[in-house]
Parts: sequence; structure tokens; C-alpha cells
Amino acid sequence: MNKDYYNILGVGKNASQEEIKKTFRKKAHQCHPDKQGGDEQKFKEINEAYQVLGDAKKRAQYDQFGSAFEHGQAGGGFSGFEGFSAQGGPASGWDINMEDLGDIFGGLGDIFGFSSQGGQGRGRARRGGDIQVLLAIEFKEAVFGAEKEINLKKNVVCDRCGGNGAEPDSKIETCKTCNGSGRIIKTQRTIFGNMRAQTTCPDCGGEGKSYSRKCSKCHGNGVIQEISGIKVKIPAGIDDGETIRLSGHGEAGERGAPAGDLYLKIRVNPDIKFKRDGYNILSKAEISFAQAALGDKIEIPTVDGNVKLKIPEGAQSGKVFRLSGRGIPRLRGSGRGDHLVEIIVKTPTGLSRKQKEMLKELGI
Ligand SMILES: [Zn+2]
Ligand SMILES: [Zn+2]
Repeated sequence: MNKDYYNILGVGKNASQEEIKKTFRKKAHQCHPDKQGGDEQKFKEINEAYQVLGDAKKRAQYDQFGSAFEHGQAGGGFSGFEGFSAQGGPASGWDINMEDLGDIFGGLGDIFGFSSQGGQGRGRARRGGDIQVLLAIEFKEAVFGAEKEINLKKNVVCDRCGGNGAEPDSKIETCKTCNGSGRIIKTQRTIFGNMRAQTTCPDCGGEGKSYSRKCSKCHGNGVIQEISGIKVKIPAGIDDGETIRLSGHGEAGERGAPAGDLYLKIRVNPDIKFKRDGYNILSKAEISFAQAALGDKIEIPTVDGNVKLKIPEGAQSGKVFRLSGRGIPRLRGSGRGDHLVEIIVKTPTGLSRKQKEMLKELGI
């Protein structure tokens, strides 16, 4: 009854886990029953071998006790094995590690009707969902930062049961659905025959315990939907299109599972006076022909209020002046950008006859 898994896979006893994985993939590919020249029996055999050798822990047990080691265990399973075990144990069936097969056969997971995403904690009370919200703010709020209050309709932890789903003062009992194991086994028909899939018990979420009475407010989910207000600090310097993540402020998880995250996508409303260019602010200022020719001191609106700007004699239209440090605070870093003012010289229109004559006399 002892099977030589090393021989079946065609690897040495000292082969590394990586080598075993590689060899398995190659062989599984060659003899896959859907392929021409495929060999279903052999495919099953190498799968069985890989289920043991591909797992360092099981491989160590196998090295010590041989392939019979698993039959000694009640239920024929491996403790802590979260996967799909074949009916009747490896002698008449086989196990599939969906993770390893997934990238070889592509859609195999779909045939079986369950996903190939593995990992610990599968099916446990699920983490709450993430929430995405678009948040519009004004230009100045983006520059200096702001505190905003947002109201969201979302799942929050039930205040009656504190999230465990039990009616206060109800007793803790062993879950009847799974008899306390936290798992249930479903049989599924597949192209390779009947497969048994172990899944987390839907009633206790894998805890193995349940309460004698479910919470009357949340019906045992541990969460209720509510409008919930949250204060958000918008950091100074944030730009249009950037996202703020508020960890743990998404939907509450069922029965005490962790909450999801809240993502705020920032939309900065356009401003009539200011435009943003990186951390600089751009604006335009109109001056008269005389101011441009003779020079002047003018007031420039900035996000800090009006600032005086000296226009030198003979300033040309399109000339850009820099108001240092009047721009946008650097979101990651220190200091601020600059405010750049473009001067637009207005050419006079609607001149009187006298004004026209004077201009002609000036000859400019
Ligand atoms: Zn249960
Ligand atoms: Zn409740």
C-alpha cells in the first residue's frame, strides 16, 4: 500500500520544493486528460503524489511514515488542510491543489465551480467592503487643507450586540450546522467525478460556536446599515484626482471581522482667479498701457490675500512675475510653491479724437 511518490513524480528524495513544483507542472501538463495522448490515471497519480510532496509538512510526515500515514487519521484528512479532499482518501481519489493548477490550465477553477484563490482564513467571517466616495472641495481648501464632515450610509457595528451577533444574555452553544468543527463538506459533481469541497460553516463563520438567540437588531450579522458621520482631515496641498485612504472606515465586517477602508477621491472645484501648476499658482493681472509704460505698484490677489507687486517701467504684456512662497504647500515635503502672475497690457480702445491726436503726437 506504500506508494513511492518520489518515483511517481520522477524526482529524487532530496529534490527541493521548487524542483518538485516544477516537475509536477511539467508532468501534469503532459498527461492532462483533456490533451491528446493524455492519461487520466497517471494524471491522478501525480496529483496525489504532489499533494504530499508539494507540501513540506506532509512531505516530512511521508518521509517518516510512508504514504499510509494519512489513513491512520480519522476522516482521512490532514489537520489544518484547507482544500479539497477526494472521496475515500487518496487510495481511490485524489486531491487537487487549485492554486498550483490554476495557472497551468487556466479556467479549470471554473469547471469546479469554486475559485482557485487559496490561503489561510478562507471563508472566515469576511472583512467589510471598501467604500469609495468622490469628495469635492474648493481651491483654497486644497491649498490650506480642511476638515470635512461626510455622511455615509454604510454597515456599522451593531450597537445592541457589539458585533458578535448574539442577543444580549444569550448562551453560547456548539454550532449545530457543523457540530463545532467550523467546517462543512459539500460534494460537487465535476468532470473528474465527485469532489468534496470543505468550506467554512456559514452559520458560525468558522467559529464552531453559535449563540442560543440571534441579536434582534442585526439578525445575527453583527452589523447594521446606518448613516454614519465621519470627520476627515484634508491635507494641505492635495491635488485634484488624488485619493485619501482612511483605513478601517469602510463597511464594518460581519460578526467582528475587520472593517474595510474608505477611499476619498478628491475633486478640486476650479477657481475663477487661480490655476494650479504643480505646486505653483498661476493668475493673470491686467494693467493699463500707461501703467506698463511708466511702471506702477499694483495689488495682486493671492490665496493669502492681496499682495503688492511692483511693475517696472516698460513692462511688456505676457511678462511673468514671481511672488515667492505664495503657492501651494508641498504635500509631501516642506515649503510652498510660488505664485506666478502674468501681466496683460490692455491696449486702449474707444479713444476720443483728442486722445488719438495726443498719442500720435507722442509717436509711440
Ligand atoms: Zn458552524
Ligand atoms: Zn446585533
